[in-house]
Amino acid sequence: MSDVLDIGGAAKAFDPLWTEILDVGRAGTGGYRRYAWSDPDLTLREWFRGCAAARSMEVEEDRNGNLWAWWLPRGWVGDPKGAFVTGSHLDSVPDGGAFDGPLGIVSAFTAVDLLRVRGVEPAVPIAVVAFSDEEGARFGVACIGSQLSTGVLDPGRALGLRDIDGITLAEALTRAGRNPAQLGPDPALADRVGVFVELHIEQGRALDLVDHPLALASSIWPHGRWEFDFTGEANHAGATRLVDRRDPMLAFAAAVHTARTEAAALQAVATFGKVLVSPNGTNAIPSRVRAWLDARAADQPTLEALVARITALAHDHTRAEGTALTVTPESITPIVEFPDGPRNRLARALSHLGELPVIPTAAGHDAGILSEIVPTAMLFVRNPTGVSHSPAEHAESIDCHRGAAALADVMTAWVTQSST
Ligand SMILES: [Zn+2]
Repeated sequence: MSDVLDIGGAAKAFDPLWTEILDVGRAGTGGYRRYAWSDPDLTLREWFRGCAAARSMEVEEDRNGNLWAWWLPRGWVGDPKGAFVTGSHLDSVPDGGAFDGPLGIVSAFTAVDLLRVRGVEPAVPIAVVAFSDEEGARFGVACIGSQLSTGVLDPGRALGLRDIDGITLAEALTRAGRNPAQLGPDPALADRVGVFVELHIEQGRALDLVDHPLALASSIWPHGRWEFDFTGEANHAGATRLVDRRDPMLAFAAAVHTARTEAAALQAVATFGKVLVSPNGTNAIPSRVRAWLDARAADQPTLEALVARITALAHDHTRAEGTALTVTPESITPIVEFPDGPRNRLARALSHLGELPVIPTAAGHDAGILSEIVPTAMLFVRNPTGVSHSPAEHAESIDCHRGAAALADVMTAWVTQSST
């Protein structure tokens, strides 16, 4: 593959950009803590503006905090329409890897550089985009920026979301110098975006297993988050007889096991990865255990069956323990089938690479949210560890360069050829 992609050109543009952000928001663990509207996020937003300015691309921050860097065709008058848009997100999960999100943005600016070197004159606008708060690590809802812009997420609900310190999104936006009152759907989005192509590190080992550096996306599994709120009675861990206890930790523990066994039975995945215990004392029986279930499956009925089963069994346990349970859906994202049209155009633009694997993903993406209203496609870059949302997430430099060079080929084809 190395002889048909401009890997050298990509490396020259990619590496300096990558190095610039390598230390931003990096914790002692080696992982990243780039939460939405935190200082690292604001630093990365300034970096994005700098990248755009260095390329004479005009930056616009839309009403939801998503950043757009525009390259308009020579002589273009008026608002951008039908643009080739590519990018991803800058925020991370707690102790996330370096690649999830930023790889797509660094690759996008690299692709722009390669087009400039090639002397490409785009016939349609090009934009590099950074969507706000994709991971949902701070306020509990993923893809806040793209969900607001597409009208999927109600702005009133978004503004009231709170982080772990009780700070609302509205307060966080105000502190960051933004106006929370302007949040809401972007009616111009459908006109502006001709296609959104998100390049992303793969979050599994499918590509490593077939020994291929790049793939196109077929679909995103339906997935969601549910809050399980177990309540009981706080009491002394020593003085309270077992028979007198109303300990919500027991039903929670059973739910963790149920999630695993039921997911395995349905070839799905289910995870309790976040827990808040009150009062959280070593010598105290908890009064309350709040836990968040993340569940994903290949199709909607399987996902619904999985969550219904975990919920029903958790209720059985709470009844048996004399405790109580409330289950609240926090966000549910239906299956996304990426359309054939854009994927086929990408495949044609990359036909010099042979046949690319086409794979589904169980991870959510802004591309999935945008696919509600605009054509979308995704390009995956191999992650040999298969690990994601962890510092162990990895992509080899050569594969990053291949991905960025492939994105440049896709961009070139899209902005210079008619769609027929
Ligand atoms: Zn991501």
